[in-house]
Parts: sequence; C-alpha cells; structure tokens
Amino acid sequence: MANQIRLLPENVANQIAAGEVVQRPASVVKELLENAVDAGATRIELIVKDAGKTLIQVIDNGLGMSPSDAKLAFERHATSKIKTANDLFDLHTNGFRGEALASIAAVSHVRLRTKTEKEELGTEIRIDGGEIKSNTRVQISTGTVIEVRDLFYNIPARRNFLKGNSVETRHIVDAFQRVAFTAPKIRFRLVHNDNEVFNLPPSQTDNLSANLRQRIVGIMGRNTNEKLVPIQEDTEILKITGFVGKPSHSKKKRGEQFFFVNNRFIKHNYLNHGVLNAFEGLIPPGSYPAYYLFLEVPPQSLDVNIHPTKTEVKFDNERDLYAIIRSTVKHSLGQYNVSPSLDFERDAGLDTPYAYKDKSTVKSPSIQVDKDFNPFRKEYSVAAGAKRKETLQQWEALYLDNGPEKELIHSIEVEAEDISQQLFDEKEGLDVLHTFQLHAKYVASSIKSGMVLIDQNAAHQRILYEDYLEKVTLEGMGHQQLLFPLKVTLTSNEINILKDVKTDLETAGFHIAEIGEDQITLDAIPVSIAEKQVDQILEELAGNIENEVPDTSFSQIDTIAKSLAKSLSIKAGTPLNSKEQESLVNKLFSCKEPNYSPSGKKTFITISIEDLEQQFNI
Ligand code: ADP
Ligand code: MG
Repeated sequence: MANQIRLLPENVANQIAAGEVVQRPASVVKELLENAVDAGATRIELIVKDAGKTLIQVIDNGLGMSPSDAKLAFERHATSKIKTANDLFDLHTNGFRGEALASIAAVSHVRLRTKTEKEELGTEIRIDGGEIKSNTRVQISTGTVIEVRDLFYNIPARRNFLKGNSVETRHIVDAFQRVAFTAPKIRFRLVHNDNEVFNLPPSQTDNLSANLRQRIVGIMGRNTNEKLVPIQEDTEILKITGFVGKPSHSKKKRGEQFFFVNNRFIKHNYLNHGVLNAFEGLIPPGSYPAYYLFLEVPPQSLDVNIHPTKTEVKFDNERDLYAIIRSTVKHSLGQYNVSPSLDFERDAGLDTPYAYKDKSTVKSPSIQVDKDFNPFRKEYSVAAGAKRKETLQQWEALYLDNGPEKELIHSIEVEAEDISQQLFDEKEGLDVLHTFQLHAKYVASSIKSGMVLIDQNAAHQRILYEDYLEKVTLEGMGHQQLLFPLKVTLTSNEINILKDVKTDLETAGFHIAEIGEDQITLDAIPVSIAEKQVDQILEELAGNIENEVPDTSFSQIDTIAKSLAKSLSIKAGTPLNSKEQESLVNKLFSCKEPNYSPSGKKTFITISIEDLEQQFNI
C-alpha cells in the first residue's frame, strides 16, 4: 500500500495557520502596527479602505529590513525577535512567533516596501496567496510600507463570514487604540476611506503616567482629562500605573476598559472584576467605569502564549494581583474623595453617638447596671461599655425590632433605654435632626440644600454591610454558642459552595461542626442573627457566591457580609420610630460609601430647594 501520510504544501499550511492569527481585518491591523512599533518607528500611519476589506496599509519610519530579511520575513517561524527559547521569558517586543506576516500573506495580496538606513535602494516584494510574485528594488525612505489588499480573497467562506463595515471598522479602531496606548511616544495616525480618524501627537516626557494621560486624552477626547483618577502602586509582584474614570463618569456600556500587562493589551475577566469591585457602592449596577491600567509583572509569572492572538494571558498569582488591584483602585478613589458629602444642618459632632459618652458619665448620677459587662473581655471599660451598648442600641434596634426574636430585642432595648434617655435630655434645646417616615419605606430629612429621601432597606443594608466588614476585619464577628447544634438541610450544590468558604464562614461567626452530603451542623452562629434565619441566610449566601464572584476560592467575606446585611436589614413596610429614623440617617452618612447599597441600589436621593421652588412655580 502506498504511503498515506504526506506533508502539507507550505502555502496550505500557512492558510491553516492564518485561520488562527488572522480572523478579520483588525487582526491584520494589530500585527502590522505591532511590527512597526517593534521596528522602533516614531511615526506610524494606518490607512484603511472599506473597513480593511479592500486595503490595510501601514507606513512606518522604523529600522526597515535588508533585502534578505525582507524575503525571510514571510517565512513561517521567521522572526528577528527571539533566538533561543530562553528569550521567550524576557520579551520586550510584541511579536515573537514569526507567524503573522506568513499568515497574512497566505490569505491576501501583499506588497512590502522596505529599506534600512544603510542601503541606498529599498526592496519591494509582492506576494499573492503566499507565493512570491516579484522581488525588485525601489526608491523609498528608511522604514517599511506594507499593503494588504483583498483579505481572504482566496478563502471565500472566510470573506463572507466578515461582519458589516461598521462592525469591522469598530474592531480596527479598537486594535489601533490598543497599540497606540502602549506607545505614547510614537505619533499614530489613522485614515479610513480618506478621512483622518486619529492623529495622536507623541508625548515628550519621561513620565509614564503623564504620557499615558496625554494619549488617553488624544484617543478619548479632551474632556476626558478631568475625569481621570491616577492609579499608582509598586509592589514586588506587581507595579500598576494608569488611570480610572471617576465613578460619576461611568457609562451604561462596557468599552473603555483597558488592561495592559508588560505593555501588551490583555483581556482578563477576573482582574476586570477586581477593578469593578473597587467601584462597588460608587456606581449603580449595570454601569461600567473606564479604566486604563498598565500592569508590570515579572515575565516569569506570566504565560502569554496560551492563545495565538495573545489577548488572553494567565498569571501564576492571580488572586494576589486581584487583591492588589482592587485595594489600589479603591484607595485612589478614596483619596480623590469622589464620594460626595452631605451638608446636614447640624453640628457634625452631634452625629456621632461617641460625642456624648463623656458627658453622660458626668451628668448621670444614677447607677447603671451594665448587663453587657464581661470581665474577660480585654478592652472592657465603662466608657467602652457605654459606647458599645449605645452603638448596639442604635444598630440593633433597627432590625431586631421586627426580627423574630422579640425577647432579645426587649432586653437590649430596656438596657439601652437609660443611655438613650440621657442622650435625649442632653439633646434637648439642641438642634435635633428632624425626620419622618413615608409609607413605612422611606425616611425623609431636611438638609441645608433641601431634603434627602432615604430608602430604608437599601440604607440599612449599607450600614450593616460596613459594620460587618469592619467587625470581621478588626476583631472577627462575635458568635453565640448554641445550646443544641443546629442542623441545616441544603442541596449538595449549596453544600459544596459553602464548603469552599468554610474558613470565611467561621470568621463571620458560623461555627461548623460537621458538613454532610446535604446537611450542615452548626454549633455557633453570629450574634446578630436568630436561629430561625440561619437556613435562609445560608441558602442566600450560597446563591450569592455562585452568582456574584467568578472565583469562589477568593475570600468570600465580602459576599457573606452582603448576604447577612441583606437578610437582616429592615425591609420596606417596617414602621420606624423617630429615634430609629434618626439613627438610620446618622449611621448611613457615617458610612464610608453611603450612596449605594452593597448590591448597588441607590440609598438616597436629594431634592434641592431650587427643585422644590421650581415645582411650585409652574
Ligand atoms: P514576529 O513579529 O513575531 O517576529 P512577524 O511575522 O510579524 O513575526 O514578522 C517577522 C519579522 O519581520 C519580524 O521579526 C521582523 O524582523 C520583520 N518585520 C516585520 N515587520 C517589520 C517592520 N515594519 N519593520 C521592520 N521589520 C519588520
Ligand atoms: Mg509581528
């Protein structure tokens, strides 16, 4: 029998390889622009006709190629950028696979003109469908001009597969921008069907952040400048330089989200989530902040080669990177003070219950029994006890009042009574915050500029959420030991999810004695929740973890805090007395991020006096 296995002809192999590298005109644009950047050009021009379907031309003033290199450039695996496998780990260029030109040439008509500084005359090579048609000398200045015409002319199925011109143009513009961001010192120009779309001036400074800002403004428009919050962090495993958009300028569409790793554009869902997470509570759900973040990691910790087009990468230590990115962005947003502050009509000092604590010990001659007293608690003191109780009263009265455990509420309320009584006396004659409740759903209060309307459920969720997070990080949530172990029946999926976050659950106060196939046995639960609520909370928690966070191995404390806040918050339909209303208002506005509930719902709206006046003037 004759041999069955044959080597594919070179041009067929190239066509197949082309399928990986060249999916659409934008892929060609990316490869050609990157080659021009790698060639050290200071000016790069991209000229496109009919969304790249007719012509893609890139002109650069880089190093150019010698006649023999020009020919070699179209061979598969021909690259000047790596010589040994070790070089792969220390790449400072975009290309290295030596596949792009061969692939592009296999599926189009290519004309290359190029010249190095040393040569008088340049080289012109024409290739059709991977075959060299001519190789001549031309008059041309130093650099390279490459033209790619009629992409996929010899693969009609692929050509038909291309999208309409507007979609393909959008892809080209994206590819152009991504490269332009990585090289702010190069002038880039894009001309489409004889219209100049971009002409980006090179920046002159040696400061990466300043250069980047100029490039962002060049690409996104001049009014972007004031919307940028700088991001800068330098750790051993990650250096970050770049900008995020202010929360107030977030958009309904994704689109202005750019990650670059070691100066290469990448997409990374998990890290993207890290940035979005830092904006949580600052922007409404369904909107997206802009970001332009340049990450530098040791090349060894990065595997760029898992995808031929190289936008997907894998890091060794994604979770650490996630945490650094999230906290850096959060910190910068905080520093730039992007959360608005409200101008309540009264002395801010009065808003904090702590302000009263010293006075109250002086003024009250009555003996108080502190049922909270625990001599074993390290930080216990009379003042701390008072402060703690008072805080408890302010917070817990809010939800325990309508919670299932009436007795517990009662004891706390009675105990807290004396203190709030004192508070009340003290406050008499002072400017007390006036509030009232609407439809057992909203709490209204007067502020200097007009009025504020608070959604009681969303606000309370925010308050509880921050409280839990603080407690968990500072001291660990308190737990109540159960007299009899509590068995909670769940689905096996839920059990699996909760198993993964066992440690976090314990930090939050859920002590797990046993995990079975469809049952969890708890011997302690967080102080703030009642036994009856545990089923529902754990179910919700499992659901939230499954839906919200892409990587369940990441710390789930946040999700747990959210779920607890959601389950335990006062709901719409709960009447609040004036003390509770007042406490809600005070607590909300001493939150770090009062504007939105942990799940992104608005917690309050304000109506200005002018708005009101206008309403009456119609
Ligand atoms: P890679 O970029 O992965 O090396 P390419 O197929 O994109 O592979 O390019 C092959 C080689 O051709 C490059 O390594 C480089 O030496 C040369 N080359 C390509 N484009 C240019 C250019 N615009 N200027 C100078 N040399 C170029
Ligand atoms: Mg290349």
